[in-house]
Amino acid sequence: MRVLVVEDEVRLAAYLKRGLEAEGFAVDVAQTGTDGLWMAMEQSYDAVMLDIMLPGMNGYKVCESLRKADNWVPILMLTAKDGEYDEAEALDTGADDFLSKPFSFVVLLARLRALMRRGSPERPASLSVGTLTMDPSTHEVLRGSELLTLTPREYSLLEYLMRHPGDVLPKTDILGHVWDWEFEGDPNIVEVYVGYLRKKIDAPFGLETLRTVRGVGYRLVPDA
Ligand code: CA
Repeated sequence: MRVLVVEDEVRLAAYLKRGLEAEGFAVDVAQTGTDGLWMAMEQSYDAVMLDIMLPGMNGYKVCESLRKADNWVPILMLTAKDGEYDEAEALDTGADDFLSKPFSFVVLLARLRALMRRGSPERPASLSVGTLTMDPSTHEVLRGSELLTLTPREYSLLEYLMRHPGDVLPKTDILGHVWDWEFEGDPNIVEVYVGYLRKKIDAPFGLETLRTVRGVGYRLVPDA
């Protein structure tokens, strides 16, 4: 799941990025309202965390502009408690939820997850592809009745594949959704992680459900 953090306080942005990445999210950061708006329009995010006081364009304006452009990405607004800006206004401009600073990371994570669930009601509570099942609320992954242990990155990659069962997903799409937008390392990292996943979801069960489509990407198919 890919999240955009629009926050000009560099240390807070870095803290959020680190924390969310540790939870398996791919995180992009924008430090001005104008950059944030541009990135949210150009890329597809599963949620946006939006500060209010931002250089360039304030958070209300960013939110309003996105909604006017028919962009309905779930937005969590970060409001300051000093009263200058209030929460009602955040909701009026089209934000889905707000969180007052300072906030605890645990609360933020819970709100973000709730928002992503609510923002996409068509998504099933639990995902399944053949005998492989995933519960996004508990992060449990099962092959049949066997519980699999995945790292946050492996989980994130599998979640992306499971949300598009049967589709051929280009390596660049996978990179964009599972790693950062600005990822500048070796794109073969995708191949490496596909290999890790196969060792967990397929090989022990004598299956080959995570297929390579040569020259294009990868697809996850149900086992028979
Ligand atoms: Ca700010």
